[in-house]
Amino acid sequence: MHPGDTLTLLAPLSGPIVPIESVPDTVFADKVVGDGISIDPTTHTLLAPCDATVTQLHAARHAITLSAAGGVEIMIHVGIDTVALKGAGFTARVKEGDSVSAGQALLDFDADLLLREAPSLLTQIILLSGETSAIVERASGVATAGASRLMTVGPRRRATEDASRASSAGEAGASRPPRATVGVTSAVVAVPNPHGLHARPAAVLASEARSFAAAISVELGGRNANAKSVVALMNLGAGPGAELRITASGSEAARAVARLVELVRSGLGEDLSAARATTDAPEPTAAAPAALSPTAAALSPTAADPAPRAPRTPDDPRRLPGVSAAPGLAIGPVCKIDPLALEVEEHATDTEAELARLHKALLHTRLELKQLVAASGKRVEQAQIFSAHLTMLDDPDVVTRAEVAIVEGKSAAFAWREAVMSSYRELARMENPLLAARANDLRDVGGRALRHLAGGDEAQAAPAGSVVVAETLTPSEVVRLADHGASGFASVLGGATSHAAILARSLGVPYLVGAPASLLDVEAGTTAVLDALDAGGAALLLHPTGAELDAYRGRLGARRAVRERQEAAAAERAVTRDGIRVAVLANIASADDARKAVRLGAEGVGLLRTELMFFDRATAPTEADQIAAYQAIADALGGRPLTIRTLDVGGDKPLSYMPLPAEDNPLLGIRGLRIGALHPTLLRGQLRAILAARVGAVRRVLLPMVSGLDELREAKQVLEEERLRAGSPPVELGVMVEVPSVAIQADRFAEEVDFFSIGTNDLTQYTLAMDRTHPRLAGRQDALHPAVLRLIEATAQAARRRERHVGICGAVASDPEAVAVLIGLGVTELSVSVQAMPEVKSKIRELDAARCRELARAALDLGTAAEVRALLAEGARPG
Ligand code: PEP
Ligand code: MG
Repeated sequence: MHPGDTLTLLAPLSGPIVPIESVPDTVFADKVVGDGISIDPTTHTLLAPCDATVTQLHAARHAITLSAAGGVEIMIHVGIDTVALKGAGFTARVKEGDSVSAGQALLDFDADLLLREAPSLLTQIILLSGETSAIVERASGVATAGASRLMTVGPRRRATEDASRASSAGEAGASRPPRATVGVTSAVVAVPNPHGLHARPAAVLASEARSFAAAISVELGGRNANAKSVVALMNLGAGPGAELRITASGSEAARAVARLVELVRSGLGEDLSAARATTDAPEPTAAAPAALSPTAAALSPTAADPAPRAPRTPDDPRRLPGVSAAPGLAIGPVCKIDPLALEVEEHATDTEAELARLHKALLHTRLELKQLVAASGKRVEQAQIFSAHLTMLDDPDVVTRAEVAIVEGKSAAFAWREAVMSSYRELARMENPLLAARANDLRDVGGRALRHLAGGDEAQAAPAGSVVVAETLTPSEVVRLADHGASGFASVLGGATSHAAILARSLGVPYLVGAPASLLDVEAGTTAVLDALDAGGAALLLHPTGAELDAYRGRLGARRAVRERQEAAAAERAVTRDGIRVAVLANIASADDARKAVRLGAEGVGLLRTELMFFDRATAPTEADQIAAYQAIADALGGRPLTIRTLDVGGDKPLSYMPLPAEDNPLLGIRGLRIGALHPTLLRGQLRAILAARVGAVRRVLLPMVSGLDELREAKQVLEEERLRAGSPPVELGVMVEVPSVAIQADRFAEEVDFFSIGTNDLTQYTLAMDRTHPRLAGRQDALHPAVLRLIEATAQAARRRERHVGICGAVASDPEAVAVLIGLGVTELSVSVQAMPEVKSKIRELDAARCRELARAALDLGTAAEVRALLAEGARPG
């Protein structure tokens, strides 16, 4: 905007005006998207606040972006978390590219539906072009759509100066401006962040620096960085305690330095105490290999598996250690899921056109990221990541490099890719592993903009047989890449009990998580061995020697032969050598799983995760949908027992169509059965569907995330009411034992339930106070921790006294190395991943239950999970 220009925005809706800071969504309230005003609407047609062009209409039609005179960009976001409605309740009156005049209707919305389905109707009018413009006047009181003035937008400089004039008296005393020379000010400040100036703090610093007109630099050890460039700041490699000299010259220099010094001191948006705590967790690096996997479903070293392992030394640079999230072995060329791997033309002739293309692509990417920030809703971490990406996108160093290359005759796409890659390489060389890992953010945001320049499909394919490496993998990527024939996965992020890991296990594709950031530097096509067999020794081995390859190929062949034998015997019962029968059931999510489970010897289903059929939909499944799904599963089981767990969402499993209240600690909040209490119609509907399906002999209802008897009693009452209404025969009711309180009170619960199913994934998480999705804690979350074993034992004893049956359905049940101790603790039912069934059954047949009891007794007295694993490795060999 030019100095002197202003733009008036009319109210797009009628209703009380609400300060943006009061909006119950931190993304808006903290102005992560931009400054703005909110209206609590009493009208239901959104009007254009000024003459403008529609630059973006979100696919869910709840948010619209307008570009107005003077480069002013505005986003209007109707309601909170309304993206989840996926367009339901919204009717667009315009399309992208339309020119609209002030007061013209943009979209209609169904306020009743929104009020029912979304947490709030508050509508935010946000100024996106905050770098060049600012709100200089804002209305209060009650707005009238299309008539009253909501805000005036002016050029940024003027707004900042106005603000500084208004507050100068207060600030003069409040902050002590550092040493000033004529026109230049500088001060030294130490970095308090335990990980130094990595991406997020650097992004906060650069973004604040950009709000000042002054030229600002940061110096460390003789090297200077433009304070407005995240990449340059990260390139300084400032570790914890590094002393930065911040120097500013020109307008507002003293204010800029004072503000930035204060910001650095305060931790640049990082919670310093929390950050300090996490540094205590060992990094899964080559020097400190991650120890143990909770799933650790490696084949134990059996007589049938005699091939020698390739020699390995802990500091072999070819070995990238990690945690086995899905057990197995794969050999193949590395395939990278690389956002920058798009084909682009190198040269172009029309420099002006290419520069325009670059800036248009950056604008589109910026809008896309702002939408993503807004749509992140209560997922604050996600909002922060996309905000950091926004700052990287505008990085002056990267953009200038690209512009220079275009002027030298390169195409915009080529120039941008090279600019991103060279900054990426500089960052990735940093000694600070966190900085190096965050270089990947630059690659990610660079790839996003590249897609706008070069087109191309986000979803890349993996050649059959390849080992896919990535920073992180989503559950849908795991399924898609496995479909393409990927033989293994390795990622830097991700936990061993994440949904991506659960899916990889059920698909039988080995998956290594928690690999060091250098994983992302591996050249595509490099031959690699993904060895996710051993709990403690999982790693990706690069450039295997001929001898190593032979050894692993031999091992793979031996595993295949063992597997064939196990599958051939899968239909037989699992009985220990001394005659103790252990039921082996399956954990499933669909009728396909059920069919496969029966083929692989399942004696029934110990856990149907019904939530998976509630995900990836715009609306909740109807009762008829659910009955059909349960019926298909029951039919596939052919009369075998079916345990249906009621909806287990919340925590790390959000439901797009059912907004749940934002939570500071979602894993400790409204999840599992607590959702049923909050949305009784959802629970009742599901129970009716469970009762309506024609199931074979045994139909069990399993309640997730129960923590107290009152919750159980309430749900029991609801089940009984629905059962009587439906005229159904009694069903067995059980609880998941996944909160320590239930295990501790198992004797009391045993009086009121028919069975227990121990969910060791959550039980471990809550007993050890370790987020199950945390990549840096993945190696320490082991269900064989003696504290967890004691809770399993308490539950098994209480169940035995009341003659209730008790099973384990957490991932540890699929771990052949763990089976001995679980049986020894008195568990007589294991519900395991479909893929693991034949192996677990064959393991049970090798065991002696009396010896298992001895082992369990010894394990309960040990101090750590590692000691238990060592004991099992020693003692559970077939004797
Ligand atoms: C568990 O917590 O162990 C469990 C089986 O449930 P989920 O993994 O679905 O939370
Ligand atoms: Mg659970």
